[in-house]
Amino acid sequence: MKFQSTRGDIAETFLEAFNKGLAGDGGLYIPTELPNLTDRFDSLAKLSYPELVAEFMSYFDNEISKEDWKKLAAKSYEAFASKDVVSLVELTKDLHVLELFHGPTLAFKDFALQIVGNLYEYEVRVHGKRYTIVGATSGDTGSAAIHSVLNKENIDIFIMYPKGKIAPLQELQITTTVAHNVFPISIEGTFDDAQAIVKKLFADTEFSQHINLAAVNSINIARILAQSAYYLYAFLKLRSTTKLPIKFVVPTGNFGNILSGWLLTKMGMDASFVAATNENDVLHKLFTTGMYQKQSAQSTHAPSMDIQQASNFERLIYYMFEGDTERVVRTMKEFNEKGNVAFDTNLFPKNITTATTSNENIIEVIKSFFTQYNYILDPHTACAAPHITPGYCNVILATASPAKFPDTIENAIKVHPTDPRLESVKDLPQQKVELPADIEKVKKYILETI
Ligand SMILES: *Cc1c(COP(=O)(O)O)cnc(C)c1O
Repeated sequence: MKFQSTRGDIAETFLEAFNKGLAGDGGLYIPTELPNLTDRFDSLAKLSYPELVAEFMSYFDNEISKEDWKKLAAKSYEAFASKDVVSLVELTKDLHVLELFHGPTLAFKDFALQIVGNLYEYEVRVHGKRYTIVGATSGDTGSAAIHSVLNKENIDIFIMYPKGKIAPLQELQITTTVAHNVFPISIEGTFDDAQAIVKKLFADTEFSQHINLAAVNSINIARILAQSAYYLYAFLKLRSTTKLPIKFVVPTGNFGNILSGWLLTKMGMDASFVAATNENDVLHKLFTTGMYQKQSAQSTHAPSMDIQQASNFERLIYYMFEGDTERVVRTMKEFNEKGNVAFDTNLFPKNITTATTSNENIIEVIKSFFTQYNYILDPHTACAAPHITPGYCNVILATASPAKFPDTIENAIKVHPTDPRLESVKDLPQQKVELPADIEKVKKYILETI
């Protein structure tokens, strides 16, 4: 299957789109066709989670054999602690929690990044490639990316994070792997400084080609498609047990996770969505007023959603404009130059609504869910939880384990959640270098290390 950039460029294959990440024209890849799955629901419902992922991914790729996809997916999900990989927990008949935090780093990003890491490994093995992955993280992405390529041959990974500005447990998840190919860099600066260095490294063609620089950020189409599978999985389970329409309530930052689910509605899945943000409510404002306005992000109890530029929203714009790539180009140009752009709200899909939760309310929601259902929400999931709709079968996506944010949980309900995977990192020695936010120093370190 072919892929097309939201701004017009074509990628001939899935692997080409995967390897490029961002299209040459600055746009984001999407498949040129979407299969209709309606007739396949019954057979898909019989598959295990890894089998479902393999089947789904192979609809979009014709270079990797079905057998290889099965192996790749089985390997990606073998380290998950839950037997079914995902757990669909029923709180009441019309309220479910889709737990996506049973992977190696206890956040939903493991679902896509495990696939991405194994795809890089496939490319090394089959096409003799060699990769240097460089990324910046404000928390969850870094450790999920590191754990996706741990000890893999011919893949080195450098992850920059802002010194002293990520949660202590998150830093330990990044720095205690002792893997030969993992190089954490504590940057003396902010997340934005680290992110700016990554962008400049990719723009430096000579350097990036020399080391075959690769990315793990959420704009990669492989991440979007791999995430669709858990929506499909939950939908197929609930379809046989409820007569109510299904609504997914999704904690949202970059609009990546929710887009993965929404794409399925273009493949025959009948469901609707709530995009739930924390106080960084640029998306909520956008959907309710039509105005997309750059703002700076505030720190909240849900740090992985402290984002005010929803990169993946460009993919939705493409569909809102019915594939008119020229119009996408003009709109993104206006947004980048002026810092804002207005949309006709009639263009927004009717099956997505938005909601926002204040920082104070995050604590209140954690309390009330604990009292009402004896269920502990992590602070990100707590931004989604209050926005359920009567008359629907609501599915709240739980994007992280509460054990990753023990202080916030303790503050709310006087319970200190733990997880053995996090306890074990507490006693391990850390490996990292500290560097100033200086691109030349970072380049030098990478070249000396690989
Ligand atoms: C990354 C992240 C989000 C936001 O996901 P998007 O795909 O950016 O919308 C929400 N919750 C947690 C725990 C995350 O790590």
